[in-house]
Amino acid sequence: MLSDLRKPEEWTKRRLSGVRRYCGCRGRWRVARAQAPFALPPLPYADNALAPVISANTIGFHYGKHHKGYLDAMNAALAGPAKDLAGLSLLDLMKATAGKPERAALFNAAAQTWNHTFYWNSLKPGTGGKPPAGSRIAARLDTDFGGYDKFRETMKAMAVGQFASGWGRLVIENGKLACVRTPNAETPATVAGRTPLLTIDVWEHAYYLDYQNRRADYVDALLDKLINWEFADKNLVQDRTFIGRSRAGAREVVTLLFVFANN
Ligand code: MN
Repeated sequence: MLSDLRKPEEWTKRRLSGVRRYCGCRGRWRVARAQAPFALPPLPYADNALAPVISANTIGFHYGKHHKGYLDAMNAALAGPAKDLAGLSLLDLMKATAGKPERAALFNAAAQTWNHTFYWNSLKPGTGGKPPAGSRIAARLDTDFGGYDKFRETMKAMAVGQFASGWGRLVIENGKLACVRTPNAETPATVAGRTPLLTIDVWEHAYYLDYQNRRADYVDALLDKLINWEFADKNLVQDRTFIGRSRAGAREVVTLLFVFANN
């Protein structure tokens, strides 16, 4: 397999599982681009799997009504007034509409579609708390925050302190981990130099049925019981600025190439 990996012209011929393909022309792995009409990605777990931290009732509204509502609004726009953008991938659609007042409704729908898929994947039943000892993400929390406890304090402050609707985020900013908050539909996915690793939705629809006005309790529960460090770790490895500064990251990319080439 290693010999195959050294022949990019061979890689382009392979049909790989999932949606990842090797783009030999640029020497990178790329995700095949879904276009309009977009489908609602399935939840990565059953709707009651996050209970009691997040109830099936909340998931039913949040995923089944809010997330789907954003997706439907985006698809409706792309089938009508925004038909000129219907050929774009979701990421390119967000980039094409970000910061343009005349496209604000479409940006909000597209970015919220993306944000929610990212949020569902940021959570996982039976996890949370500290990342596994010895993991890359644990090492980075030590280096960039001075340890897990400081990260947790910073992340909680960002999520709880977001005024009105928005998101608490763990991102990489120019090669370094950072906690930030973004209002409304704003997303680090469209910001150069920012790579999203994890997110916490702090719109009221995310927690009001279970926690009413106690946003801090919801954030505490997510951090302690549902944060998906595997997902953060995967996103960490895919960040180019991180890879550029980390031999471990570069090695991991080679490992990922093996996995994809063998599927
Ligand atoms: Mn939401």
